[in-house]
Amino acid sequence: MISQDQVVANASPLRVAAPQRRAIFLDRDGVLNVNRKDYVKTWQEFIFLPRTFAALAKIASSDFVIVVVTNQSAVNRRQMTQADLDDIHARMLAEIRRAGGRIDAIYFCPHDPAENCACRKPKTEMHRQAVREFGIDAARSYGIGDAREDVIAAQSIGAGAILVQSGRGAEQRGKLLAERNSNFQTANDLLDAVNWIWEREKLEK
Ligand SMILES: [Mg+2]
Ligand SMILES: [Zn+2]
Repeated sequence: MISQDQVVANASPLRVAAPQRRAIFLDRDGVLNVNRKDYVKTWQEFIFLPRTFAALAKIASSDFVIVVVTNQSAVNRRQMTQADLDDIHARMLAEIRRAGGRIDAIYFCPHDPAENCACRKPKTEMHRQAVREFGIDAARSYGIGDAREDVIAAQSIGAGAILVQSGRGAEQRGKLLAERNSNFQTANDLLDAVNWIWEREKLEK
C-alpha cells in the first residue's frame, strides 16, 4: 500500500516556471487625463487627454500587463472619499473599455505625504504589488508618467522610464535634469510614449 506521503514524494518535480510578463505602468493624472492642481475629485473633473484612447487601444492588443499606479492623497487629505475615487475609476474603466482599451489593474496610494507610507511614488510598493500579483519582469517593463516621482519609481524597480510632457511634464523634466537624472526617455504624450516603446521593441505598428 502506498501512503499519501510516498505519492507526493514520488511526484515528478518537473515544473515549468510560467514565463514572466512585461508591464506598462501608467501614472493617471497628466497621462490619461488632464492634471488638476486641486486634485481630480469627481467624474466631472476627470477629462481624458486627446490621444489617450488611441494609445490604450494600441497597447490593448499587446501582451503587456497594463497597470495604473496613482498617488491619490486627496483621499487622506479628506478632499474626497475612497467611494468617490472608486466611482471615478469605474467610469474611467468603462470609457476605456468602450474605446477598445484595457487596464488590467489600478493601484492607488491614498496617503498624505506626512504618513510616509511605502506606496506613495517615488516609492514603489504599488509597482511591487503588481509585480507579485501578475508575475511581472520589471526589468523588461516600462513606467510612463508626467512627474519626477513617476520616473524615479520606474527607475527604482529597474524598468524603463518615460516622462510625458502632458500634464506637469515640462517643468518636471527640468527638475530631473537639475538633479543630474537623465536616464529616462521624453515623449510628448502617452501615444508618443507607446510609439517609442513599439519602435524599441520592434513590435507591429
Ligand atoms: Mg501625474
Ligand atoms: Zn501610500
